[in-house]
This record gives sequence, structure tokens and C-alpha cells, in this order.
Amino acid sequence: MAKTSESTPSRLRFPSTAVTVAAAAGAGYLVYRNGESWLRSLLLYLSRAGWARQVVTKFPPAWAVASRFVAGESVDEAIHAVHPLNSKGMLATIDYLGESVTRAMEARAACDQILYLVERIHASGVDANVSLKLSQLGLKLDENLAIDNLRTILQQAQRHGLRVRVDMEEGALVDTTLDIYRRLRFGEGFTNVGVVIQSCLYRSDEDVRRLVEEGAWVRLVKGAYQESHTVAYAAKADTDAAFMRQTEALLSETARARGVYLAVATHDDAMIGATQRFARLHNIPPDAYEFQLLYGIRRDRQEQLVAQGHRVRIYVPYGTAWYPYFMRRLAERPANLWFFVSNFFRA
Ligand SMILES: Cc1cc2nc3c(=O)[nH]c(=O)nc-3n(C[C@H](O)[C@H](O)[C@H](O)COP(=O)(O)OP(=O)(O)OC[C@H]3O[C@@H](n4cnc5c(N)ncnc54)[C@H](O)[C@@H]3O)c2cc1C
Repeated sequence: MAKTSESTPSRLRFPSTAVTVAAAAGAGYLVYRNGESWLRSLLLYLSRAGWARQVVTKFPPAWAVASRFVAGESVDEAIHAVHPLNSKGMLATIDYLGESVTRAMEARAACDQILYLVERIHASGVDANVSLKLSQLGLKLDENLAIDNLRTILQQAQRHGLRVRVDMEEGALVDTTLDIYRRLRFGEGFTNVGVVIQSCLYRSDEDVRRLVEEGAWVRLVKGAYQESHTVAYAAKADTDAAFMRQTEALLSETARARGVYLAVATHDDAMIGATQRFARLHNIPPDAYEFQLLYGIRRDRQEQLVAQGHRVRIYVPYGTAWYPYFMRRLAERPANLWFFVSNFFRA
């Protein structure tokens, strides 16, 4: 299970938090319908709290719920999860879970794990790429360490014809992440690297404009991190509008002519439907872009998109450090939280 260097919380602290979360879950739909974000904020805060990680990951029911979103703890389990996806006509991007490492040793170990993942993807013959986070490769410790690790992974992936997607993390890391992407993509000529843009950030229209000029390989998401209102939209409607503005820019004739390849990564029917309508209206063939969804979320929709002739890629995470990923998934949907809390108290 996930390790943390932070101390275990006092016994008193846990029940009060659990009650807060349980109460929040009960009110979840109302809270979200009213557009308030305190429940999401609480969960995103817990996703970063070492003490909460220790409490949650020690409970077997937590893994029982998390395993709905996480393919397993080992590479073999991840590959095993990709086989049935491939046979249903879906592609995958496999993510070795981990982020914000605090020691250089951990960053190098994560790099080794990802190199092993690249080898296993190649040897097993599954149709999958790799996703990773720069903070997992040491970005918060030493930028050069993260760059060296990423370069090593890109070289190995290139040998096997695999692409590597650099996930986007919290707002404070966006500039550095894009700088590192550009350094490796253009400075060093790696054509197998792609980035992610979060439409919730005010800056993203401008980032998209530049990436269109550069003919980038972009995954567009709404954004999973807690951001200040000074840098990100507070209302879902504004993020949704930005998401569609940016989808249209990245699917435009100019963008495609420059070599942009867009992954529309969302579970939102409204975004998926609007993308399909835009593509139909502009005669954009289904193989000019792809939809991406997370493992275990909206499986019905995943299969329906394939049946409609779309290219669909599933983000398949694995590893022992599943806690922050899992908490972000709970923050996205109160129903998931309610399921988790009821299991927690049944244990
Ligand atoms: C393939 C992929 C890669 C991603 N990579 C990144 C990344 O690199 N950086 C980053 O910041 N974020 C990333 N995300 C997360 C993203 O930013 C959103 O937080 C997440 O996708 C939820 O937003 P949404 O677009 O699905 O729509 P929302 O507006 O959150 O939800 C719309 C509807 O989708 C369904 N839904 C959404 N989430 C869930 C869930 N967890 N469980 C069940 N149903 C749900 C519900 O029906 C909901 O009503 C990624 C998402 C995907 C799909």
C-alpha cells in the first residue's frame, strides 16, 4: 500500500473527519447541484494530506472501492486489464501511479518502473501507450532529474514505437511542465511525447493557441486539481464552455493541417455530444481524434463510443500509490464517495 513519511493522525482526528466526509457525502448531490464546491475542496484537500492517506489506505474496504478505478498493484495486473479492452476495440494508456516524490531515489525508482512498463507493453503486444507525471520523476526536487528521467523513458519508448503522455498536474506546475515538454519535443526532437491541457485554467486558451501552431499531440481535460479563483474558473459552466472552445480550436482545419492530434478526455455526455456534432458539421473523420475515458468509469459509454465508430482510449492506472488518484475520482462524483463511505462503515 502507499507509503508516506508523515505521521499517523491521532485517533480522535479520524472519526471527526470521517463524520464530516459521511455527512458531506449524504448531502453530495445537493451540494453539487447547487454548484458549491466545498465537498470537492475537502476531498481534494484530503487527497494531499499524508495523515488521511495513512488512515484510508490501512482499511481493506478502501482498496475494494479503489480497485474499481485502479487496475491492480502490479504491471502484470495492468497488462491483464488491457487485454479485454483491446479485444473490445479500445486502446489504452497505462499509468504507473505516483506523484510528488520527496527523494531522488524514489524518482529514479519510478523511472525504472516505467521503463519496465514500456518493456512489458512491448513484450505482451497490447495496444497501449504510457502516461506519467513529472512530479513522479522528481520535478519538485530537481527539474534536471525529472528531465533526465523523462528523456530516458522517451528513448526507450521510441525504440518500441510507443508514445508517452505527460499528464498535467496542479496549476503551479503548468509552466514548467510545458517548458519541459517543449524542450524534449523541439529541443531534442522527440516526436513521441504529448501534453495535457486543463480547460478550467484561464491561461488555457492561450496555451491551446500556441500548441495548435506547434502541431502538438494534446489531451484536453477539464482539470482535476483544486485551483484558486485567480487562475481557474469557479463555475462548471465556464469550464465546459472553455472545454468546447478549445476542442474546436484543436480540431480546426488549421490545427489538423499542422499535425495536431486531439484526445478529448471526458465522461461528460454534453462534451462528448458537442464534439461529435462539431466533427460531423466539419466533416472531420473519426480517426482524426480520439475520446479518452478513465478505467472503470462509464463503461457503458466507452463501449457505445466504440460501437459508434470512434477511436477510444482508456487510461489504466496501476500501482500501490493509488490514494491521491482515488481521492480525485471521489471528488469528481459524490455517488462514488457515498459508495466508499458506506463500505468504510460496514467494515
Ligand atoms: C483519460 C483522462 C485523462 C486525464 N488526465 C488528466 C490530467 O492529466 N490532468 C488533470 O488535471 N486531469 C486529468 N483528467 C481528469 C479530468 O481533469 C477531470 O477531472 C475528470 O475527467 C472529470 O471531468 P469530466 O470531464 O469527466 O466531467 P465532469 O463535469 O466532472 O462530469 C460530467 C459527468 O461525467 C461523469 N463522471 C465524471 N467523473 C466521474 C467519476 N469519477 N465517476 C463516475 N462518473 C463520473 C458523471 O456522469 C458526471 O456527471 C483526466 C481524465 C481522463 C478521462
